[in-house]
Order: sequence, then C-alpha cells, then structure tokens
Amino acid sequence: MWRKENGNICNAKAHPLRMRVLRIALDVPVAKIFEYLIDGATPVEPGDRVEVPFGARPRVGVVVEIAAASSVAASKLKRVERVLDGAPRLPAEWLEQMRFLSSYYQRPFGETVAGALPARLRSLKPLPKRAKSAADNASEKAQPPVGGHAPNPAQARAIESISVALGAFRPFLLHGITGSGKTEVYLRVIAQVLARGLQALVLVPEIGLTPQLEARFRRAFPSSHIAVLHSALEDTARTHAWLDAARGDASIILGTRLAVLTPLPRLGIVVVDEEHDASFKQQEGLRYSGRDAAVLRAKLAGCPVVLGSATPSLETWFNGGAGRYTLLTLPERAVPGARLPTVRTVDLRLESAENGLAKQVLEAISARLARGEQSLVFINRRGYAPVLACESCGWAAGCTRCSARLVLHASAERGREPGAGSLRCHHCGARENVPRACPTCGNVDLRPLGRGTQRVEETLAVLFPAARILRIDRDTARKRAALARTLDGIGRGEGDILVGTQLLAKGHDFPNLTLVCVLNADNALLSTDYRSAERLFALLAQVGGRAGRREQPGEVLVQTRYPAHPMFRALMRHDYAGFAASQLAEREGAGFPPFVHEAALRAEAKKVDSAMMFLRAAARLLEVPASVQIYDPVPHLITRRAGVERAQLLLQSHSRPALQEFLRLWSAALPASSSSGVRWHLDVDPIEFD
Ligand SMILES: [Zn+2]
Ligand SMILES: [Zn+2]
Repeated sequence: MWRKENGNICNAKAHPLRMRVLRIALDVPVAKIFEYLIDGATPVEPGDRVEVPFGARPRVGVVVEIAAASSVAASKLKRVERVLDGAPRLPAEWLEQMRFLSSYYQRPFGETVAGALPARLRSLKPLPKRAKSAADNASEKAQPPVGGHAPNPAQARAIESISVALGAFRPFLLHGITGSGKTEVYLRVIAQVLARGLQALVLVPEIGLTPQLEARFRRAFPSSHIAVLHSALEDTARTHAWLDAARGDASIILGTRLAVLTPLPRLGIVVVDEEHDASFKQQEGLRYSGRDAAVLRAKLAGCPVVLGSATPSLETWFNGGAGRYTLLTLPERAVPGARLPTVRTVDLRLESAENGLAKQVLEAISARLARGEQSLVFINRRGYAPVLACESCGWAAGCTRCSARLVLHASAERGREPGAGSLRCHHCGARENVPRACPTCGNVDLRPLGRGTQRVEETLAVLFPAARILRIDRDTARKRAALARTLDGIGRGEGDILVGTQLLAKGHDFPNLTLVCVLNADNALLSTDYRSAERLFALLAQVGGRAGRREQPGEVLVQTRYPAHPMFRALMRHDYAGFAASQLAEREGAGFPPFVHEAALRAEAKKVDSAMMFLRAAARLLEVPASVQIYDPVPHLITRRAGVERAQLLLQSHSRPALQEFLRLWSAALPASSSSGVRWHLDVDPIEFD
C-alpha cells in the first residue's frame, strides 16, 4: 500500500516546509501503527529507522509508510527526532514479509518488525564498528564448489532441475535418504547462484548442527563471504552478520530459523535443510514456522526454495504429492558402495535387558570394539535417571514449580555416588540437592529408576573398561565450540562407544561408525500426540543414518517391546513413502493436518481453573462461522510449568482463509493479555501440545 503513497514524497520534496506524516511501527504490545511528523526537507523513505519520542523515553521505530495527511490534527502529532543511519534501509520486500507474518501469526506488526531486528538495531546506541574491514566482498567465479565428489546421476538430475528454475519462484522437495549427498546438491546449485552475483540463504535446524556444515561451506567456497546467524551469537557478532547480509556483502547466509527474517537485497535461492525438524517452529512471541516463512520469502524474492530431508514432514510430503512442490529424489547413498544400514528390532519381551542393554546389543558392541569400529548408543534422555523414588512409600522427587518429576543427575566426575549429584527439572531448570532420606517416610534407601545418558555411560564403562566412551548431550556440550571439537574428533575416530541424545542424531558424518543401538524408542510409540509416530520415524531414520556411511555396512538395533509395530516394519524396509502414505491416510480419516488447518488458543494463570474459565468464555465470545470448529478447552499434559498453570483450546478448519479471518476478529475481541491475571496467546499451525 505504501508504494502507492511513495509517489507523494516527490511532491513533499518540492515543498521543503510542508510537514509529512510518517506511519511508524514501534515495538509496543498493541496492534497499532503510530503517526509522527517530519519536515519536508529531511530525506526519509519507508524502511528507514527513526528515533521518536514515546512516553517517557525515546524509541526506535521503522517507517512503514509516508502519508500526505493524517486523520489526526497535526497539532496532536509529535515530531520525529531524527532518521538513524548506519544500517541499510529495510527493503520493501522485507516489510511485505513482516506484514504477512504479523497477520498470519496474529501478532502486532510493530512487535514483528522489532523482533526480526538484532537488539542493536532496536536501540539508540550507535552500531558497532567493524574491527577489520568488511571489504572481503570477493567477486564470485563461476566454478563448482571446492572438494566433494562428482555428482551421481540422481544428484546431477536434482542439480539440473533446480538450476533451470533459478530466477523464478519454485518450491522443490529434495527427498534424499541419509548419506545421499543432499549437501552436495545445495553446494553446486549455490555455486551457480553466486556466479550470478546473487545471495543464498541456507537454514539449518540447530546450533549443534552448524559447525560441521559451516566448515563444509567454508571449504567449498573459500573466497566467499559467509555470514552465520543464530540466536546463540553474542550481540555484536550477530549485528555484524546481519548487517553483512542486509548490505549484500555476504553472499551466503547460513543460519537457524531466525536467519529467514534477515533482509537480503539479492536473494537468489533459499535452502531449508532437514525441513521436517521441529526446531524450525518458534515457540514464543511470533510463533512462526521458519520453513513456511522460507517458502514465503522465496515467493516474494522470486527465487526457488529447496526443502531437503530424508524424512520430510507430512505437510511437505503432502504438498509434493499434490504437485505444489516439485519432488526430487536421491535414492542412493552418495559414496559408491555405501548402503543403508540393516535395521533390526531387539524384542525386550524375549530378551531381558540387564542394565538397560540387551545381550544382543552388548555382543554387537563387543564385535565393533574388536574390529576397531565405532558404536553409538542412542538414548533420548539426558541425566542419570528420570526418577528418584522411595520404594517403601511410593514417593518420587517432583518439581515444586511444575507438574513433572525431577531428573537425577550424577556429579560430573565418573564413579562418584549418584547422591553427590543433583535433582533437576528439565522443564523449568530448577535444581535441588539429592535428599538423604525420603521426605515422606524417612527411608534412606532412595532408588534411581530408569536411565539416562549418564547411567548408560556408567554401565558401559563397567562392561567395557578398555573402551574410550564419549557422552554427548546438552550437559556435556554446553559450548558450541566444544561440541564442534568433539564431533570433529569422533569423525577422526576418537571414541569407541558414543552415548548420546538427538544432538548426535543429525547431519554429522562419522565414517568409522558402523553400529547404532536405540534404547528407549517405546516412550514415543505410546504417546497420544498424533505427530509422535512421524517424529520417531524421522529420529530413528536420522540416528540410523549415522551408521555405515562409507564402505563398511552399518547396523541399527532398536530395543522395543513392540517389534510388530508398523512403524518399525517401515523403518526396516527404509520405506519412508509407504510410512508417509499410511500416516496420511490415518490423518485424513481422523481429520488432522495437513487435511485441516489448526490454531490453538493457550491461556496461562496462577490456577488452571482461571485459565479454563477464560478459554470457555473466549469460545463463546463471537459467533463462530460454520467452517471453523472450536473444541473444548483442556489443561496441558504438563499442566503446571515454572509455577504457571496452563490450558488450551484447539480450532480447526478446512479453509485457511476462514480460520485466518476468524482469528483476526477473535484476537481483536479477546481481553488484553494478563488484564485479569490470565495471559493468552494464539499459536497458528501449532506443533507442540504438551
Ligand atoms: Zn518413602
Ligand atoms: Zn520445574
């Protein structure tokens, strides 16, 4: 809309004394655009950052529109203090993206704009100076990336299909089995994008995944400026990376979901690697899907977007099947001779698992140790044991702030008594000392029940005293750089047995790893969440995909009490397509996404009753169109978290526009959040329900 208004600037410039009205987005929790005056002589455009008076202190705002007049009397409008410089003007395409995200995810526009900027660009402090010159804007040569293998026929076809689509919007789903060389496809397409003088945006799920991928990109494009963006960066580094991207100095932008919100003046391709990963969905503030935002971004920029995965999300797979996305398949492992691992279940009903590890599993590990190969023991739970309990009265350590058990963590040094450790809440971060006796009955013999990574590590150390055992989870890998070093070391053959959580599942290439043992897959099979089977399949395919990526064949052993479960049968056949077809049929029958569109209204209060009352009233607030269905409110599975009690209600519709329209009217009609002690938010396309 402002583009039309843009023409007025010329008129205004002709009359330097005439005041113009700027419509400005400010980071305040109301859905409102604010108006300020600026004189005709000051150069200003939409996308400029300005300093404006607001309440007691000045603020940074972003100009979204220049108007000739205001509906408010000019005497009531305040004047813009100054136009801020130092950062490039935010492009029209970027403002368009913000407008869409704000409206789709039902958040105030000003908050959306501010949330997309690094903290320094939201503050009045001058921007940080670069220590060294940013003039490494080396001109790109049209050459293939350095290193890598010659593409196999399937890779070559994928590269060709994407390459001919450069210059226009087109979504691709790159479905490649683990180890099939998706990254090589990205690199070769990006080489062509760089040769055209354009920028490439590459989104990856997690920080833990970026070091190896970043190193691979730097090796492939040694003369290119690569900007890395993720939330763990400190302020100055993030600001520099953001500015390099926004100024067009960086030609490759590699980052987590937030990188999709960076202005890029010459965007030529968007890649979303591991597009199925749940971490692409933001879980606070603007609850956007980084993957969906990436598709929108490519559409606005008029360039292709490549969604890559071995186990695509069912939404994306469905779009591929419906012809909305072009499906490209990599059916073979990239390294000649490397095959997918053999997957077998170990039936825990027939074979007792002493210390949590079945005999077959231990024998398989012994065999690898004898051959000098690496094994990975996967358990998706960190800490020593998930429960500390009293067997005489049934007491179990619980978090006082959450409706959840406390997890027993052993102290850092191996071999100490578990009593030397601590009890920790994995939901709110609370930490307590381990009690010497049961607080209910005084029994001093408290027992750890179940097992986490620390306990498995301890057991393996006893059973295989000569083996080098490495544990990788969030507790051992707090620092990004340390994790990168550990992963590098494993890649070079350090460590005989790796014990790890999903931090180890994704993306890493460990050539000497030939065995993966999965210990506790059954928890997810028993979950009521309709997405849990999809997630477990993806996780196990990923974990299993670490094995046998070179010439030695890999083996995956999954301990389970449900070996006949159809998910395991699909996994053994490496049949993602078959699994997806059966899941989609179930979802269609039950009326779940992608066959319907969903939103959740969530309420938080001191007492769950207040949250439930708020939701019941909310459901009756407006007349609900027949095309939208509102379900009864329910408390969250973990009702209390960090001292707050939570409930939610679900909305469904076959029509996305109908749902969007209702949400817009509804969020405007709902009382201000926390006005009556109840805080609420909407989550559009929710993926977490706990
Ligand atoms: Zn007791
Ligand atoms: Zn807690």
